[in-house]
Amino acid sequence: MSVSSKCQTCPGPCATDEEAGFSVAPDYTRFSQKRDIFCRSQWDPAVHSAASDRFYESYRRPLPQWRNVDGYSQRDFAVRNAGWHVADIFAERLEPERREGFLDFLSAHREGSQTKFEGSDASATAREIKKVARLFGADLVGIARYDERWVYSHKYSAVDSDETPMDLEEDYSSVIVVCHEMDHDLLTTVPSALSGAATGVGYSKDVVTLLALAQYIRNLGYRATASMNDTASSIPYAIKAGLGEYGRHGLLIAPGLGPRLRIGKIFTDLPLAHDRPIRFGVKDFCAVCRRCSDACPPGAIAKGSPSDSVHNISNAEGLVKWTTDAEKCFDFWAKQVTDCSICIRVCPYNRDYPRWLNRIRFRLMGSVLRHVMLWLDNAFGGGKRRPPRRWWPNAT
Ligand code: SF4
Ligand code: SF4
Repeated sequence: MSVSSKCQTCPGPCATDEEAGFSVAPDYTRFSQKRDIFCRSQWDPAVHSAASDRFYESYRRPLPQWRNVDGYSQRDFAVRNAGWHVADIFAERLEPERREGFLDFLSAHREGSQTKFEGSDASATAREIKKVARLFGADLVGIARYDERWVYSHKYSAVDSDETPMDLEEDYSSVIVVCHEMDHDLLTTVPSALSGAATGVGYSKDVVTLLALAQYIRNLGYRATASMNDTASSIPYAIKAGLGEYGRHGLLIAPGLGPRLRIGKIFTDLPLAHDRPIRFGVKDFCAVCRRCSDACPPGAIAKGSPSDSVHNISNAEGLVKWTTDAEKCFDFWAKQVTDCSICIRVCPYNRDYPRWLNRIRFRLMGSVLRHVMLWLDNAFGGGKRRPPRRWWPNAT
């Protein structure tokens, strides 16, 4: 399964898989969302447990007892769950038939215009879309060609705990990818329930930006379907859209944000010029750095070179890449009663980029000085945890 080299909207040939750093087997078949680890935690006895039930419950209801542990107090869970609140409200709005943002695309739109706005060429429209996306809150925006390979073959239905045919229209031409920054200071406190607020706030911001941007496109007379974790894998589109590279920990690493981001996307037929992938040395840096795989408590992150081997059915087959063992990762989350972002915290690309020194460091990490930069980062204690209580004002 592959895509042709030319689309309707770009003046030149589209970015190839090679340009994006993808290695996709000719017999690659699309992934069914039923195999996703969060879906498996609902139907698969190998993943579902009392701990996973308690994990999900903790996002919706107060714990029966609060632990007297820094980062896991009532106040920490309170801010985590409030951070998730907007995303959760949208997800639960039409349950059990739809779980929008996680199993189904967002649907809270007014009817758009019947008249197509014919204002600009595809390149100018792409610039306009990026400006409007930033107005609506996006920290990064890129545009990729629609590529069916990354759309799930089936989505998961919570009603009957089974896969159901994908209902995304197939004739979209573009995917607009938006990223929201996860709070740097919160993530220095990982592992903690407090740090989970960074994840929740990212998803909640995604809802607002994606809904508004999709409505803008509809108001221009074109189709737009806004998607978060549902419907398709986001990372391949983000890489093709020129937003970043793929890291050993299985996350997107973007200039200016590192791995500290949440990704949303909009499928559209609005004619848009597409961005090209960027390279700034992540693959070479990850080859000499094992900080995430060494720090991961359950050992879920690959220590070797990229390969096509898989750990279990939650991994897509036919892709050569660093592949994380989602079963080990989720089991750790469930036992902790909160999500974990240790691999983000320790990553040398996770920096406070408004600081000029970190922007210089970023450039040098992509150069022949990568070994030196890693050594310096280790020597200066990069990626160390900060006590969660220190995030709060009035810390003792
Ligand atoms: S989130 Fe935590 S458990 Fe999962 S891969 Fe990252 S470090 Fe490991
Ligand atoms: S911690 Fe190191 S190996 Fe892991 S993704 Fe970040 S740079 Fe790559």
